[in-house]
Amino acid sequence: MIYLKRGPAPEFWTRERVKTWTGRWLVKREKGGDWRWPDVDKKPLNQHARISMAEWQYGKCAFCEIPIGNRAEVEHFRSKAHYPLAAFVWRNLFLTCHDCNHAKGEADHAGCIKPDRENPADYLWVNPYSLKIVPKPGISEEERQRAVKTIKTYQLDRPELKRLYQLTYLKEETLNLVPPLIQARQNQPSTAPTIEERISVLRARAEPEQPFSLFVRSFLVHYGVIEK
Ligand SMILES: [Zn+2]
Repeated sequence: MIYLKRGPAPEFWTRERVKTWTGRWLVKREKGGDWRWPDVDKKPLNQHARISMAEWQYGKCAFCEIPIGNRAEVEHFRSKAHYPLAAFVWRNLFLTCHDCNHAKGEADHAGCIKPDRENPADYLWVNPYSLKIVPKPGISEEERQRAVKTIKTYQLDRPELKRLYQLTYLKEETLNLVPPLIQARQNQPSTAPTIEERISVLRARAEPEQPFSLFVRSFLVHYGVIEK
C-alpha cells in the first residue's frame, strides 16, 4: 500500500450526473434494491472509472499493490450501504483487486488509512523475514491502531500475498541478492561500480509503479540500501 495522487474524474462525471445517480440509488436502496453501477454510453460506470483510475494507481490494487488489469473492481472507501451519498463521489472510490474489495465488504472505514490522503508507508511496513505486513516500528499508539485496522479490514496479511512477494521478488536475481551485495560493497570497495549498478536495479523495484513496492521498499530500507 502506497501513497496515490488522485487523478481527475472522467469529464462526463459531472456534479449534475452525480446528483442524478445518487438520487436513483437512494430510491432503489429505500425499496431494498440491490446495488448496480448505472450505465453511461451503454457501459457500466465502474468500467469507465477503472480506466481513469488505473493511470494514477499504476494499474495496481490501491491496498495490496497487486497488478490488476481487467480484473479490477471499484471499491467504496465509505461503504455505499452506510454512506449512500458518497456512492458516486470520485474521491471515495479506489481501484482494488477482488480479494481486498471483498475482505472489506461493507465494513466501517473509520480509522483505515486512505492512500490518497496520507502516506501508508508512514504506518505500514513489511517484515523482511516473516514477509508479513505489520505496523511500522516506532509509530505512536494511535497510528499503530490505524495500521492494525487497515491490515485487518483489507486482510493485507493474507497468506496469498506472502506467496506473491516470494514469487515476484524473492528468487534469484532479485531481492535475495541484497545481503551478499551489501556484504561485497563493505569488503571490496574497488568493485563498487558493478555492485552499485546491480543495487540500482533493485532500487528501481521500489518505485511506486512496481508491484508490491511497499514490500520491496521495506526490504531495501532494512538492508540500508535506501534511507526511508
Ligand atoms: Zn488488493
